[in-house]
Amino acid sequence: MKLGRFVVDTHVHAQRFAAGAALREKQAQPGQEWEALSSVLGALEPYDNSERLLYDMECYGVDMCVLLPAFGMSNELNARIVEAHPDRFVAVCNAHEYLERVRKGEEEWSIEGVCAELDRLLATGRYVGIGEGSPYMPFPPNPREPVSQETATRNMLRIMEVAARHGVPVQLHTGCPMGYGPTTYSTGALGGFNLNPLWAHDLAAAFPDVPLVLNHGGVQGWWSEKLQEDCLHVAAAHSNVYLECGLWWAELYERALADPNIGPEKLLWATDWGASMPFHYQPGRYPPVYPVQIRSQGVVHHQVDYWGWSLRELQRLRIPQDDLNLILGGNAARIYRLPVKHTRLFRPPVPR
Ligand SMILES: [Zn+2]
Repeated sequence: MKLGRFVVDTHVHAQRFAAGAALREKQAQPGQEWEALSSVLGALEPYDNSERLLYDMECYGVDMCVLLPAFGMSNELNARIVEAHPDRFVAVCNAHEYLERVRKGEEEWSIEGVCAELDRLLATGRYVGIGEGSPYMPFPPNPREPVSQETATRNMLRIMEVAARHGVPVQLHTGCPMGYGPTTYSTGALGGFNLNPLWAHDLAAAFPDVPLVLNHGGVQGWWSEKLQEDCLHVAAAHSNVYLECGLWWAELYERALADPNIGPEKLLWATDWGASMPFHYQPGRYPPVYPVQIRSQGVVHHQVDYWGWSLRELQRLRIPQDDLNLILGGNAARIYRLPVKHTRLFRPPVPR
């Protein structure tokens, strides 16, 4: 049975990299594959993986997807996928093409350059927001150049200004999948907000009319609930903060739903469809299954099935269907302005 009347995954990657040749060239052993992959990702050409995505949408009854460009993925390719299937996809944008010019040495990175690029892309009307995460970190990233909270926050505020002008939501990345090697996990590379979601209080307070979406709601991978709690703290305090929750296990939904200042209105079903992140199974422990990259096992080569697992976790929630419909697609329709076939399909949100 389809789990809701309008099902939208708000965190999907329809592009994929053919990394095999580059990894072979690097002669990476299984224990070093993730690191080798992160070092070549910027230079790889992504390809359109939407045929496989449409197959999975059919399998699991997913009506629409919000396409996100992760690192190295092209805004233009996502826009073309949207144009081929306007009833199935919308896309958010990052500053990929600008960062490519910086990577090639054609331009010097500046937050002004980032904002000009986002402004230009949003003015085309082809994108419904800014993501995945937001490009607030100086580029190229350098773990020997830590980025302070003040710099990160000031840069993010500039990006939020652009979003406010265009009336679109902004995404901020929280959580991490554990692979990709040691240089990825630094404030200079990953971005300080990732591991410090509480910093987002400043952003939400400064722009109360801009929807702020915390990618992964603190849990992109790993078993810890620490970052989820930080994300809940921010969401409970601001009516404009939303949490992506598709990689949460059932118990994580329950604590967000029980909080009277969060509730179903602030949750967006959103996995990481298209990402290279397998699930770890530890029977008898909590949680029995969770997504994480396992460095010793090397890079995943198949299309990981996020939806089957995530929908089974959601199915364990004994909540009103109208609440579930908000999480599965009603909230996404509201904040990303998705085309919905009828009015009054969703319970009007309780202000929280
Ligand atoms: Zn992602």
